Amino acid sequence: MTETAGSVCERDVSVLKGVGPAKREALGKLGIETVGDAVRFWPRAYQNRGDTKTLSEIAARCRAGETGPFSAILTVSTEPQGRYIRKGMHLTTARAFDETGTVAVTWFNQPYMANRIHAASVYRFYGRFEWNAQYKRLSLNSPLTEAVEEGVTLPAIVPVYPIAAGLTQRFMAELTGRALEAARGELWEILPSEALEDLKLPAYAYAVRQIHRPDSVEAMETAKRRLVFEELWLMFLSMAMTRAETKRQSGPLRLTDTDMTEFREALPFTLTGAQERCVSEILTDMAGENLMNRILTGDVGSGKTAVAAAAAYAAARNGFRTMVMAPTEILARQHAEDFSRLFGPLGIRVALLTGSTKKKERDAILDGMRDQPRMGEGISVLIGTHALLTEDVEADSLGLCVIDEQHRFGVMQRAALFEKARDVHSLVMSATPIPRTLTLAAYGMIDVSRIDELPKGRQRIDTFIVNESYRDRLYAFIRKQAAEGHQVYVVCPAVEETETKPAEGEEMANLPLFDMMEESAPMKNARQTADELARALPELNIGFVHGRLKAADKERVMTAFADHELDVLVSTTVIEVGVNVPNATLMIVENAERFGLSQLHQLRGRVGRGSAKSYFILVSDSEKPEAQERLRAVKSTTDGFEIAEYDLEQRGPGDFFAENGGIRQHGQANFRLAALCRDPEMIERASFYARRTAEDDPALEKPENRRLRARLAAFGRKTEKTQN
Ligand code: ADP
Ligand code: MG
Repeated sequence: MTETAGSVCERDVSVLKGVGPAKREALGKLGIETVGDAVRFWPRAYQNRGDTKTLSEIAARCRAGETGPFSAILTVSTEPQGRYIRKGMHLTTARAFDETGTVAVTWFNQPYMANRIHAASVYRFYGRFEWNAQYKRLSLNSPLTEAVEEGVTLPAIVPVYPIAAGLTQRFMAELTGRALEAARGELWEILPSEALEDLKLPAYAYAVRQIHRPDSVEAMETAKRRLVFEELWLMFLSMAMTRAETKRQSGPLRLTDTDMTEFREALPFTLTGAQERCVSEILTDMAGENLMNRILTGDVGSGKTAVAAAAAYAAARNGFRTMVMAPTEILARQHAEDFSRLFGPLGIRVALLTGSTKKKERDAILDGMRDQPRMGEGISVLIGTHALLTEDVEADSLGLCVIDEQHRFGVMQRAALFEKARDVHSLVMSATPIPRTLTLAAYGMIDVSRIDELPKGRQRIDTFIVNESYRDRLYAFIRKQAAEGHQVYVVCPAVEETETKPAEGEEMANLPLFDMMEESAPMKNARQTADELARALPELNIGFVHGRLKAADKERVMTAFADHELDVLVSTTVIEVGVNVPNATLMIVENAERFGLSQLHQLRGRVGRGSAKSYFILVSDSEKPEAQERLRAVKSTTDGFEIAEYDLEQRGPGDFFAENGGIRQHGQANFRLAALCRDPEMIERASFYARRTAEDDPALEKPENRRLRARLAAFGRKTEKTQN
């Protein structure tokens, strides 16, 4: 029997009233499988219906350009009238008033409202108001309408949940209410009491109730703080425990010979100071008692490959093989070329194994991996895609596994994920600079080497911020670059298929759980951009890649771009732009306000790789001052670590916890709250207390940590799920 057997939270959510097979399936799409999942299914926003205003106040604000939503308690003055204004379009109208004014209320396609609303009765209306300047009249469209009755208190703050097809806000509210009720005996505290006292955080049971059914805005904020802290703490705790678990003896993989003279001589350049420091950190790891488990981070172009090559060289020198994994086939091929050029003269054999490697060659390579490796014999460095992990590669002689992440995986958790790389030294290369705040917080739980210096002589890329009115000039600029024989990237936030409609009620919510960079400007989708470009620039060859394409099709388009068969590549960032195309001199980013700053910075690194002057143009129609300020930060800063730090303050650590978009797409990822936390001190305190717990009870075996262990296990399960 497990400790949690009989736990209500672990039981299938269908045990709750109202959850039949259809609802169960819809809930599954939101990641709600168990009662516990429902308890921890956080609203994404709230409607502050309790914050009522008078009509004169509302009119004044609408005249100033606001639309609400606002809440008002009004008396209906006329019996509501229902009529069809045309087929499929029904209108219910009524007038309502308070002591300061009157308003015309309209409900679209809700014919039943005529029977629900009565003259001389009082209601609380919540919705968007509009001021008609010509007629000097206030109107209210399709408001949520609740009867105000003696002895009944209407909730002040109403949660808005993420929903899927087949679910409604009302159902979600009932579901979470029932889940809380069913689990009420199990809302145990898992945070250490010192942490609760130190940060003045409320108990778990209080927090989960208040996040779903807040008594006040303050109570909701307090609950949120507690839940954010808890997520951060769990994350750090799981990192600390993973570390303890994966700290394996290096045994025979311990380097003895770390003479790098020959390697340095073979390099066509001198390593920068930062590269040298990283090489020495890596060699120290590999010559140490435990296996290396390190992340190498640095801006695009900072020279991570040379550092990884140094590690591979040291491994080869000591008779161990290295496996280098790249996220795409093109990138694998580029690495293979780089490594072969460097290692060929040193007598270190490099092989490339990908999905398109012919069977005969593949068998020969796999055979070559079975031989005892020695300098000058057999294959020492095997390069390929992630598929290498599933290949029948003999892992015995493997000593080092290098993973080139390039794009934004959950770098913080990645290192421990690969089974094959479990018992070898591992080095993850990440182009997402991890901000110092996070590195410090995770110190000792993950090892991070930072290349914070670019090789000399790099050209500066000119960054511009423009709006839609520059469209024609942008086209002209693309034409000019192409006429000069150069190539252009155009990057868009997403293709249309992946866009999600706002959940019902969400549009009207006026209290987001987190004040994310929500934008009202219409988003330009990638397909539309590609079409417009093709129309505006018919003389150019334009390619289009997006995340929904099959890997092989993606590769085909990317290769065509790399071979200069295409002048312009339109893409979403879902795809790997990590190829090296020195001839690309211009990158245009559409809806730039939608991107994380680190992400923009990484994109910028894709141009300016050749000798020609290069440009990075951010297109944004957002008028939000924060958005403009963020874009200016990218314009004025060239240091990725600085940008990452700024991004962390502005948007929270989400970009460093999960892959791009992961947080929003899988709304219920474990870091859903923590990812948006903008409080560095909170991060630091969470790390501190997680470390304390891990030191006190490394395997969480103490009886008082029994429940914590169960929660952490559930947490880990979810994290893995949302990563796939
Ligand atoms: P990234 O960190 O983005 O993977 P790369 O390893 O691809 O960067 O290096 C970018 C370019 O810089 C390559 O052409 C590489 O040869 C060159 N490079 C790397 N280190 C140095 C250095 N110390 N001096 C000069 N050029 C360097
Ligand atoms: Mg690289």
